[in-house]
Amino acid sequence: APERQRKPDWIRVKAPTSRAYGETRALMRELKLNTVCEEAACPNIGECWTKRHATVMILGDVCTRACAFCNVKTGMPRKVDVDEPAHVAEAAAKLGLEHIVITSVDRDDLPDGGAGQFVKVIEALRRTTPDTTIEILTPDFRGKMRPAVEAIVAAGPDVYNHNLETVPRLYPTIRPGARYYASLRLLEEVKHHNPLIFTKSGIMLGLGEERLEVHQVMDDMRSAQIDFLTMGQYLRPTPKHAEVKEFVTPQAFSAYGAIARAKGFLQVAASPLTRSSYHAGEDFAQMRAA
Ligand code: SF4
Ligand code: SF4
Repeated sequence: APERQRKPDWIRVKAPTSRAYGETRALMRELKLNTVCEEAACPNIGECWTKRHATVMILGDVCTRACAFCNVKTGMPRKVDVDEPAHVAEAAAKLGLEHIVITSVDRDDLPDGGAGQFVKVIEALRRTTPDTTIEILTPDFRGKMRPAVEAIVAAGPDVYNHNLETVPRLYPTIRPGARYYASLRLLEEVKHHNPLIFTKSGIMLGLGEERLEVHQVMDDMRSAQIDFLTMGQYLRPTPKHAEVKEFVTPQAFSAYGAIARAKGFLQVAASPLTRSSYHAGEDFAQMRAA
């Protein structure tokens, strides 16, 4: 690999070996649940699963899109699993989760984009683990956004997350199936329907974005009343994916974090290994206690 693709020291993470890690893995297999932790080859899996924090990825492990940064398989997805909502709730109960993050692949093939399954999962969780706070990280529901958001917001998640992923200039190469302003509008729509739901978004750094472009994204997010922001280093899952243009230093992440706080976000996570679900539960509990 070229020199610039070598990971700096602050990116290296420990191999997952704990007993809790193995148990989390076994539970996911038993309940036939996919996790973004595994599908995205997340560098934090050892730490998160040791604490029994896993981010469930519903609606299958095959996506109808092919974003240049993402490790999830692309193709024609399988039928929606009707047992999935009950299995997610069972996993939350067995893991003893105070906070659960649910995400999904994009299902442009489904008439509702998969919104109905999000609703069923939220309902199953509310029945089984009423004290678990629920954070959902959804696709953009291209062309079906309004009804999808309306249905999901009515189900009442605590946090609605949708990632902008990168600065608008890089969308054509990095996130070709999506539109920057459509994603912003989605989050605005959530607030419009229920201002009590916290909204959250994130971007990856290191894809070639400029500092002022990042500041502009923060301003756009605040204009859309987005409450929480996450920023982390983009890591290339395989050589077929977009290359890392830069390893942003921990100091630069801290500087971005300070600027974001000054712009009024309620909660900001900015570090090389930050992912949208990293420490989501701890951060949310802390924010609510404050
Ligand atoms: Fe999973 Fe999120 Fe932790 Fe990564 S940061 S291992 S995706 S819970
Ligand atoms: Fe990956 Fe989501 Fe893009 Fe699908 S839509 S390729 S799951 S980032």
